[in-house]
Amino acid sequence: MKRALITGITGQDGSYLAELLLEKGYAVYGLVRRKSKLDFNNAEHLKGKVTFIFGDMTDSASLLRAMEIAKPDEIYNLAAQSFVTTSWETPLSTADINAIGVTKLLEAVRLVKPDTRVYQASTSEMFGKVQTIPQNEKTPFYPRSPYGVSKLYGHWIIKNYRESYGMFACSGILFNHESERRGEEFVTRKITISVAKIKAGLQDHVELGNLNASRDWGHSADYVRAMWLMLQQDKADDYVVATGKTHTVREFVSLAFLAAGMELEFHGEGVQEYATLKGTDRILVKVNPEFFRPAEVDLLIGDATKAKTILGWEPEITYEELVNRMVKSDIQLLVEGKI
Ligand code: NDP
Ligand code: GDP
Repeated sequence: MKRALITGITGQDGSYLAELLLEKGYAVYGLVRRKSKLDFNNAEHLKGKVTFIFGDMTDSASLLRAMEIAKPDEIYNLAAQSFVTTSWETPLSTADINAIGVTKLLEAVRLVKPDTRVYQASTSEMFGKVQTIPQNEKTPFYPRSPYGVSKLYGHWIIKNYRESYGMFACSGILFNHESERRGEEFVTRKITISVAKIKAGLQDHVELGNLNASRDWGHSADYVRAMWLMLQQDKADDYVVATGKTHTVREFVSLAFLAAGMELEFHGEGVQEYATLKGTDRILVKVNPEFFRPAEVDLLIGDATKAKTILGWEPEITYEELVNRMVKSDIQLLVEGKI
């Protein structure tokens, strides 16, 4: 039986990955942080199926201890302060967790079990101010937030340990991926929760920032499969994982309202832009400059040819299906009083 340690198991990706590895017969260990309220977040349903180990990416001793307990064949380092906006508010702890934390984990691997295969959650945010379209493994990096910068350190230290010590360490450069379990502050989930509440008459409208930002959005359940495939290869390498299609925030919000039976009509431009329910003057979307960022990543669209060719990976859930699933799920979660 293979053994895997997942950091960030309580997050969106960690929970889907744990399900995948359990299905494949792995013994799964998950690093969790102690909080004032004991809360396993997205991993609540995994209690009894995985072994939780308390620890923190900023605490080397806890990572050594987790390695000693799990003795993993594979580690998936998904733990991060993952929200770009917060990275301007907490730049140092973001770097501690997302950058230095990766070195702490690699050192723990080196000391306890150097043949462990390591997956690092790199991100398309490292491309940032993109100069070429679409982006692939050869596209230069130009991060635009403390989050992007911290992740770039993680990316390079993985490559460096691979080259310095011959460790099997891979980075997946994953483009945005969402799901019914996405954090509530990310734009997709913020929109789908708002749509559910507006439909139920519990919210008037949703306020968003830059509607022109464009993202390559996939589904997390597809993307965790790519992570696993990377660690099953003969050779460690880095891969872009993306759908190859991009949509603006404006397009996402339109489709999300449509999924709940409401068609939007947009008016105005820039910070004056808003959307009404088609054929009425009822405002459902407003632009609020509070949600604009100090520096923006305008357009992301990935070229996953390498992952398709070498890993045989293809996304199965379309953008339309993703939006529909998220809206449907939030309508149901609202009925159940969970949001
Ligand atoms: P989430 O924010 O949903 O999950 C992050 C996880 O990290 C949570 O389990 C969180 O625990 C844990 N965590 C945060 N800080 C620490 C810490 N100091 N010590 C231990 N654990 C910690 O992120 P996603 O699941 O969406 O993403 C997974 C990874 O992939 C992240 O590294 C993210 O940056 C990266 N990524 C994500 C993309 C996406 O579109 N989703 C795109 C590209 C990369 P807790 O529950 O306690 O907060
Ligand atoms: P990111 O790509 O990891 O930063 O994921 P987000 O979902 O947080 O943001 C995606 C894009 O949506 C960014 O370009 C944001 O500027 C844009 N956006 C527009 N309005 C909002 C909003 O209200 N909240 C968030 N989180 N993003 C918004």
